[in-house]
Amino acid sequence: MIKDRILDFLFPAFCVACGGSGEWWCSQCRQDVQFLNSEVCPRCLSLGQHECQGDLPFDHVWAVGFYHDPKLRAAITALKFHGTSTLQNSIKLFLESRQLSGPPANGALVPMPLADKRLKERGFNQAELIASLFSNEWQVKSNKSDGSVLVTRYQLPVTKCLIRVAHRDPQSSVEHDLAARQLNIKNCFEAIGQVPKQVILVDDVITTGATAAEAAGALLAAGAESVSVLTLAIGA
Ligand SMILES: [Zn+2]
Ligand SMILES: [Zn+2]
Repeated sequence: MIKDRILDFLFPAFCVACGGSGEWWCSQCRQDVQFLNSEVCPRCLSLGQHECQGDLPFDHVWAVGFYHDPKLRAAITALKFHGTSTLQNSIKLFLESRQLSGPPANGALVPMPLADKRLKERGFNQAELIASLFSNEWQVKSNKSDGSVLVTRYQLPVTKCLIRVAHRDPQSSVEHDLAARQLNIKNCFEAIGQVPKQVILVDDVITTGATAAEAAGALLAAGAESVSVLTLAIGA
């Protein structure tokens, strides 16, 4: 985009995480992002062994890292406010270096919609940018018996079949509590058009899961058979 080139000219690249010059999110910072080594529980979003008491309606939850990780958080914040293609490129490189398990067969990515007001302020929806990055970059590596690594790439369609029909206070302004946030987000979403059977909701961050659960409710009511969540980061 020409706009990006003008921006790059006016503002030479400085890493959003460490301030070093040259790249918007430098390769060192990308490497420093902590690995999320365990699966995220789709019922309660816990990691590792736990006694599950959750009832979130997800089939699977994939997160690439932790929101409390300053290196990842800086990139996510920057993406939210300046979704330049150079920053998107760095995030793409980062995703290529990370490992996720495979998506469901015939899965389709559904970006979490923004409220109209916020879309007007920003001009773009960061969840759509992330969905488009994943639509080509979801790769799974597995070790073959001869010691070589098999890389499987998935091409996933992006379907914008979810809209926000009500504007509420941002979830971050509501206390960090699932019930309070569920109440704040109630009836905010509506499914439109053809809803894929296996939905993978895409957002930048998942915290309590209240927003994604409300969105999942709308999609399940409109014909989705399963709803999973894919995010860059998990946590408060
Ligand atoms: Zn850096
Ligand atoms: Zn659990």
